[in-house]
Amino acid sequence: MKNFIFTFTIVLLFLSTTVAQENRLAHKQPNTAEIFHKIEKLGFLGTALYVAAHPDDENTRLISWLANDKMARTAYLSLTRGDGGQNLIGPQLREQLGMIRTQELLEARNIDGGQQFFTRANDFGYSKHPDETLEIWNQQEVMEDMVQIIREFKPDVIINRFNHRTPGTTHGHHTTSAMLSMKVFDYAADKTVYANQLKDLDTWQAQRVFFNTSWWFYGSQEAFDNADKTNLLEIEAGTYYPYKGLSNSEIAALSRSKHKSQGFGSTGSRGSQTEYLEFLKGSFPTDKSDLFSGINTTWTRVKGGSRIQTQLNSIISNYNFKQPTASIPALIQLRSSIEKLKEDHWKGIKLEELDQILLDLTGFYVEASVNIPSATAGEKLDVKIEVTNRSNEEFKINLLPNQLIQVENESFLLLKNESKNVQATLQIPEIYDASTPYYLKEKGTLGMYQVKNKTLTGQPESEPEFIVRAFIELQGIRLYKDIPIIHKRTDPVRGEVNEPFHIIPEIAVSIENPVYVFSGNAAQPIQVTIKANKKIEKGSLELCHPDGWKLTPTEYTFSNLEKGEEKIYTFIVQPPKDASRGLISGLVKVGSKSYSKEVIKIDYDHIPDQQLVRNNESQVVKPGLQNRARTVAYINGAGDDVAQAIEAMGSKVFKFEPDEVPNDLSKYDAVVVGIRAFNVAAQNMEALQPRLDVYVKNGGTLLMQYNTSRRIDSDVLGPLPITLSRKRVTDENADVKILQPDHKILSVPNAITSKDFEGWVQERGLYFPEKWDPAFTPILGMNDKDEEMTKGSLIVADYGKGHIIYTGLSLFRELPAGVSGAYRLLANMISIGVKNQPIEQTDGQKKL
Ligand SMILES: [Zn+2]
Repeated sequence: MKNFIFTFTIVLLFLSTTVAQENRLAHKQPNTAEIFHKIEKLGFLGTALYVAAHPDDENTRLISWLANDKMARTAYLSLTRGDGGQNLIGPQLREQLGMIRTQELLEARNIDGGQQFFTRANDFGYSKHPDETLEIWNQQEVMEDMVQIIREFKPDVIINRFNHRTPGTTHGHHTTSAMLSMKVFDYAADKTVYANQLKDLDTWQAQRVFFNTSWWFYGSQEAFDNADKTNLLEIEAGTYYPYKGLSNSEIAALSRSKHKSQGFGSTGSRGSQTEYLEFLKGSFPTDKSDLFSGINTTWTRVKGGSRIQTQLNSIISNYNFKQPTASIPALIQLRSSIEKLKEDHWKGIKLEELDQILLDLTGFYVEASVNIPSATAGEKLDVKIEVTNRSNEEFKINLLPNQLIQVENESFLLLKNESKNVQATLQIPEIYDASTPYYLKEKGTLGMYQVKNKTLTGQPESEPEFIVRAFIELQGIRLYKDIPIIHKRTDPVRGEVNEPFHIIPEIAVSIENPVYVFSGNAAQPIQVTIKANKKIEKGSLELCHPDGWKLTPTEYTFSNLEKGEEKIYTFIVQPPKDASRGLISGLVKVGSKSYSKEVIKIDYDHIPDQQLVRNNESQVVKPGLQNRARTVAYINGAGDDVAQAIEAMGSKVFKFEPDEVPNDLSKYDAVVVGIRAFNVAAQNMEALQPRLDVYVKNGGTLLMQYNTSRRIDSDVLGPLPITLSRKRVTDENADVKILQPDHKILSVPNAITSKDFEGWVQERGLYFPEKWDPAFTPILGMNDKDEEMTKGSLIVADYGKGHIIYTGLSLFRELPAGVSGAYRLLANMISIGVKNQPIEQTDGQKKL
């Protein structure tokens, strides 16, 4: 949403000057102690799966403890990617925020040692109850993914973050994650359930399910102390890891701090820490201090595995920290013993771990990079491959060419501490899709992503676009390493930077704003940018639009665009006479090919650069409204785009920070307070109170948008008392009862009807007042299913000669989404105290 970016410019500038922090693509060689720990980990054959709903729900302390202390294979299954959350570091929302949070989870797991899975469920926003969640998610599809992940990952224990027995006490997604986890525990083992998966997979029976509880879930420490703990396991999770120089809680904090978009930077702690696991289902542990007790987690769980443990014990006791390569011969013997096993699951996992350990021990370094961040289909690029042998013995390297990658020097010997640069060329096929997250390729629904390819189930992200495979011959065995081609560069501040290499469309097309609002009959310019990512001789650009809208010109032609050249074209768009709403989309034609994709880049230091490629599409809306407010003062709150929406309706808007509001407000037809201003600038808003009081008494209109109820007294929200509650209506289609049909706020200048509450997005509103001064009149009634009607979504009072309006309606979401009714209602709110005629929008320049 490009037009919202400016609000966040300051934040972005601030971010770019903070201390550089590298993403997980940075090459990291484990040291001798870390390698030793990896060898120890070869001896634990147990698996744990942690289940919750969103990125940041997971308890990184328990995940880190499982992966590092218990040394279990550990994964976090987040049902969603967190698209519905807020973004504290930039303007990206919805699927772009989901992309950021997916990467933040991968960065977190890179620190705490877990793996990461997702389902196709989409975080559509807040829901109060699992029933509401499951009306929007496709339960069968979410469970299908969960069952497949369990059948593939084969967890012995499953740990829920949330309580499945208390619907309605937390986000509906949370409770649902635990409820579905209880079900799929059984389904994964049932050969009649999702039987189509059993062509490639076996059923799997996990042994037990826990709920990772804490005193918090009991309401208070005291209630927790007094609770029956028969089924509760206490885990000491405060371990200090000498090989890392960190305590478990310190690792957990580093991991949690990766959730930067959520502002979850956290400080580590040291010393003893207890985690509580409530046993829910399966076999009860034989020892209450060990969640795996009674489950065989040694090599004897695999047929013929007992001698593996003996070999491994000897390698561990003979490990030489000063000369770790001395373990290589014994590890190669261990490898050959594991290869002889008949069982497949653990054999495959442990061989992969062991091969990586052998590569780690040699200090083997390999990378394949290009010096540009992206290219188009059909391009041919130089690839630089660096291979370095940092061990004491020589080994043979074989770089495997494939259809796309030609290598100059395929096989060669590398001597002790020798480094070789090998030239390769990458030929990108003539027809090749631009890089975009696999789960965003198809159009999904509100509740589900659409992914047809079942081999991608659970995967966090698309595979790297291009891979070079290197074989290493070491003491008679052959190891391999797949090396993704990355974009490597040196940044003057950050130093070495490694980013993914992306394929971009030959021509990208984008429209300046996501929504254009036409409040009057005046035409507006709409700018379309095309970017040639390769040389283009000639082509044309048109703008697809709904019936009744007129464009001048109807088409542009262009010629001789150089690679990298960007051109902006302006279409003058004339709305129809009546209210109308539809989509516009830029379309470029070059010969027989057409292009309509836009490229969105997401660049932050703490995650690899992300690219989203999607159809360019914007909304044109003519709400059919009249507005009387000529000048509006907007007091900024926590950040919203309502001021732009008011400008789009033809008012002149003056924006102020809460501490910069002028003394005399009398020249403004309305003063509008941004969302959560009383939360984020409490003192400044309190200081403004006398000025607002005088302004309204003398005939002004004060419109206050939603604030959260936390630490807000009833006497601070404007001149008259208002008490906020946590009441919200999350169903965006919930019925709206018009309590005061004749009230001027519903009739002048626009006649508001139930039609104006159609097509709302995400929710009706939030934190509605529950008590108010008798001067206020509640205008609307609404409620979610099976709940009592709330009347606080919009309240209006006459005060002196002026008006006070408080609304928890989520105008800040509806206006940027182009919802006509929200514009018409807002026009009435800011026009309520104005007697003159509606303003006619003539300059044709106003847009959202
Ligand atoms: Zn959550």
